[in-house]
Amino acid sequence: MPETRRYDCIVIGAGPAGSAAAMEMARAGLDILVLDRGEFPRFRIGESFLPRTKRAFRRLGVLDKCLALPHARKVGVEISLGDARHGSQYFFFRDVFGDGDKETFNMARVHLDKMMMETAREAGAEVRTSCGIKEITRLEDGNVVLDTEAGEVHGRWLIDASGQATTVGRSLGQRRFHSFLRNVAYFEHFEGVIRPSGQGQNCFALTIADEGWFWMIPLDATRTSIGFVARESLHRTLNVDPEDRLRWAIARTPMLRERMANAIGPQKNRVISDFTYRCDPFAGPGHFLIGDAAAFLDPVWSTGLTLGLLGAEQAAAGVIRMSQGSRPSAERARHNAWMKRVTDRAFRLVEGFYDPGFRDLLFSPKRTKTLERAFVTLLAGEIDHIPFGVGMRCQALRGLCALQRVRPVAARVRPFKIALQRPFEPSVPTHLDHRA
Ligand SMILES: Cc1cc2nc3c(=O)[nH]c(=O)nc-3n(C[C@H](O)[C@H](O)[C@H](O)COP(=O)(O)OP(=O)(O)OC[C@H]3O[C@@H](n4cnc5c(N)ncnc54)[C@H](O)[C@@H]3O)c2cc1C
Repeated sequence: MPETRRYDCIVIGAGPAGSAAAMEMARAGLDILVLDRGEFPRFRIGESFLPRTKRAFRRLGVLDKCLALPHARKVGVEISLGDARHGSQYFFFRDVFGDGDKETFNMARVHLDKMMMETAREAGAEVRTSCGIKEITRLEDGNVVLDTEAGEVHGRWLIDASGQATTVGRSLGQRRFHSFLRNVAYFEHFEGVIRPSGQGQNCFALTIADEGWFWMIPLDATRTSIGFVARESLHRTLNVDPEDRLRWAIARTPMLRERMANAIGPQKNRVISDFTYRCDPFAGPGHFLIGDAAAFLDPVWSTGLTLGLLGAEQAAAGVIRMSQGSRPSAERARHNAWMKRVTDRAFRLVEGFYDPGFRDLLFSPKRTKTLERAFVTLLAGEIDHIPFGVGMRCQALRGLCALQRVRPVAARVRPFKIALQRPFEPSVPTHLDHRA
């Protein structure tokens, strides 16, 4: 018997973005169905959160639940160049302009995502797992029909939060890849990674090389997430098995080797495509796109969850308003405009990281404190409401980067080339497979 019930909104994906949207709509009294093809708990990468993400968790009423799970404090970002030539540069969230949070946290997504899905359920949403979408049969305002692994379901509206699967984006042929941000990430969790004392304590550590960058993210008291994001020029040509590339890169990078001298973890790494894309327009007849289903950004500044949760808030508010009589065309336009504005800003922030002029300025001893504070405000994820003064300073910073490319105002920083280094073995000595 096909289902005849018509939900107010169907959400594809019970990840953080889908669960956040479902929570908001269910709390407003709407009849919500969330479908996820996976089972929870499940592994996901994306474990470091910005102060703005923390505020979004607080607003959703889940911050205390987050902090009751294993997590690690995060007060800023340590940026280094892979070897000792330039030392580390530190950027602290205590320096943000405005009264946003001055610190935040990291945690394994296996805990966070399960908690978010369960909270959506507690809020009254019906959540079905192991239930993938096979096809979108109808996508019109007020009339959505999906063919799922468990049969047909009907709703008035659809929110696509299916992550990199981009269910609607692919079905409508909307996904467009970035021209040069076509990276691949190799990563794993380790025990026993040395954590810095002094300034670097409780920082997200980012190590830049010519061919990519590493992350070191403390997840709880003992476990650290280590990843290497390789640029296209390296991952397309490197003659090393993809599952061995994290070890390959660590063995050639002094900063990583030092901190991982006593680390214990799997021999093989996980691999994920890290190609930046967007699927705009972000709303259309019958649907809204949020999270990675709308756009995926190179994760260098950890912007993913911030965009996902803030987009969820916008889409949920749009559906709630439509249920109260607001015109769909008005809500579509509003969601589209908001998502475009915030996504464009996040894209600019990430593109800036790959600008050699920006790297020179990051490592310049003559950094202007007020420009640095504006940059840290964006790093904290404050990209939905940028105060005028912060916006002006960020423009000035972009101008300086452009100037640096043609008439240097700061010393040029020579990037560290991993491929030219001799390996040093063993880089990660012992084997312990503790995958979730
Ligand atoms: C290497 C890497 C590092 C990252 N680091 C960070 C970081 O430090 N900080 C940060 O904030 N972000 C980071 N991100 C980004 C972050 O992981 C994502 O932005 C975030 O997971 C997006 O959440 P989501 O809810 O949109 O999607 P997801 O968490 O991917 O959830 C999507 C859900 O949809 C379900 N689904 C998919 N297709 C279907 C279907 N057809 N039918 C039913 N269900 C379906 C999936 O099973 C999944 O549960 C990183 C990403 C990468 C690749």
